[in-house]
Amino acid sequence: MIIIFSLLFGSCDSSGVHYISSENESDLITTKVEPFENYSPFDYTPSSDSMQNVINCSSNSTYMACINPYLYFYNSNVIVRYNPEANSITYLCSDPLCLHNSPDCPFYGLDVLYGFYIYENTIYYRQQYDYQKNGKITDSVNRISAYSINTGELAVLRNLDDSPLSTSNMIFYDHFYLYTDIIFNNETHKSTYNLCRQDLNTKNIEIVLSEESWNTVPLFTYNNVLYIRNSEKKELYSANADTPLEMKKISDDTGKIAFCKDGYFIFKDQQGSLFRMNADSSNIQSLNIKNVDYFYLTDNYIYYTQVDQKLKGKTEDGQDINIDLYSISRIDHDGNNNELVWKNNNSSELLLPKNFVVYGNYIYTVFDYFKVDDFITGISSRSNDFIYARINCDTQDIFYITISVK
Ligand SMILES: [Zn+2]
Repeated sequence: MIIIFSLLFGSCDSSGVHYISSENESDLITTKVEPFENYSPFDYTPSSDSMQNVINCSSNSTYMACINPYLYFYNSNVIVRYNPEANSITYLCSDPLCLHNSPDCPFYGLDVLYGFYIYENTIYYRQQYDYQKNGKITDSVNRISAYSINTGELAVLRNLDDSPLSTSNMIFYDHFYLYTDIIFNNETHKSTYNLCRQDLNTKNIEIVLSEESWNTVPLFTYNNVLYIRNSEKKELYSANADTPLEMKKISDDTGKIAFCKDGYFIFKDQQGSLFRMNADSSNIQSLNIKNVDYFYLTDNYIYYTQVDQKLKGKTEDGQDINIDLYSISRIDHDGNNNELVWKNNNSSELLLPKNFVVYGNYIYTVFDYFKVDDFITGISSRSNDFIYARINCDTQDIFYITISVK
């Protein structure tokens, strides 16, 4: 235990700071990533495979985003951009001396439950914090913020005031931001549930659909078609993104869903089986994979996790603990060539890749790590350093990426 902790906290130096001098990135600093407990030096093999950028198969991949050619990581204080080919990180705060611990930092108070979204070189996220004086709250910030990666400018997209943010889904398309909002009417004492869209340029908001109970959950748009889940009927609908009132049912409930840019869905039903169907819901095919927990699409593959092993044990303070260990496999988009990509092959040190992004031939996941000896001991990576693990799909080798608070 002691050895592990000292390795975890003792490796947070950053070195090799230099300035990027290309036009768009002139004010950003890039830092070489200091490796965490890596057994071999960094290497990178390019691959022609790339991720599918229209995706909604994870509602909670809040610590990672992949926008070609970069990965974006959140280290519990700040969003950084990682260059997977060079193994370098760039802190996105416009002030190179930012300590990320005050409202001067554009990411201060980022609500990790809602994660962050990147659309056209702008990062969108919910930001929430209070100002206090003598133990009393004097002012509160609760808003959807928009941070330009190019200019380093922070803008307020929408103040949330007292209204709860009703869904973590943020959908961006054609210079619009689409969200659901609960509006309480003080006279009737009733709430309405509204699908709203905001023009990203003018900031104007219009209600495009209003209902008395909350049934409509927008999933994503593709080619100006909006895909909607009706949460009461448990059905999937599509509509022209400009006229969501005129939605058409296309399928029974599909559970989690990802859209392939070639015009078909890959979805996981409520029981965890994978299917593929055309965008008009024709030609539903089972991919003959069951008990899937998480999945991710690339041009060539569907990567997915399944529980490989269930571990029962006790923690040092005597609590019973159950841990599901996942394996990662992949299949072609038509269900052929199922192959195991990675699973824990060490019985005492266990990595838990609950969700991940895939870039080229590598899987990137938040480093959640358990050590088993007499006790099962969990080590959370969400400390001052934030650690990601990169799995090489060919060799199963793991490379650790440590992101330190500067
Ligand atoms: Zn900062």
